[in-house]
Amino acid sequence: MKEIRVATANKNKMRELKQMLEPLGYSVRGTEDLADFDVVEDGDTFEANAIKKARALCEITGTATVADDSGLEVDALGKKPGVHSARYAGVVGSDRDRANRVKLIEAMRDVPDGERAGRFRCALVYLEPGCDPIVFHGTLEGEIGREERGDNGFGYDPIFIIPGDGRTAAELPSDEKNLISHRGQAVKQLLAFLESHTTE
Ligand code: IMP
Repeated sequence: MKEIRVATANKNKMRELKQMLEPLGYSVRGTEDLADFDVVEDGDTFEANAIKKARALCEITGTATVADDSGLEVDALGKKPGVHSARYAGVVGSDRDRANRVKLIEAMRDVPDGERAGRFRCALVYLEPGCDPIVFHGTLEGEIGREERGDNGFGYDPIFIIPGDGRTAAELPSDEKNLISHRGQAVKQLLAFLESHTTE
């Protein structure tokens, strides 16, 4: 079985990536065993942050590495929170996602229906030792809701409404979310690349 290391400590992202990569025969490991693995995400773009994480993990482990950086852009807020999505409300720990949603609902309170568009973006990087990083992108368009709905997913999912569907991303079963999500699209491109690029 081929091993891929994923540069994330986010259990939700790890679960989504495992669900997509393991059925194709990859053993997917995170960074749980690397106590001091910590990368400062100070890039201006999702791509820059993902490359930084992939490089750091590849150097430590010497194995093929996948890293993603993702976030939410909201048009009415000048594309914020963007690369700062995880730390939008400045809260760390288990209340972080809820605090971010509360802050976004408040920031969007006076924004009329029809002007509430936003999108999740993902940059996913695949890096083999001694090679250049390969970057895949995914985008999921949506609208920012006025209240939370749904218990699945994570982050901004309960206030991210899928246009033409009406459900929030947190009301989608995880396999349905994976089919359309920004990360799902990027992973699909990664899988196509891996299938056409056998290193054995
Ligand atoms: P990262 O771990 O630096 O990539 O942070 C990504 C942040 O963007 C997460 O903490 C979430 O707040 C948000 N985010 C990214 N992808 C999703 C998603 O699929 N659903 C909901 N929120 C997401």
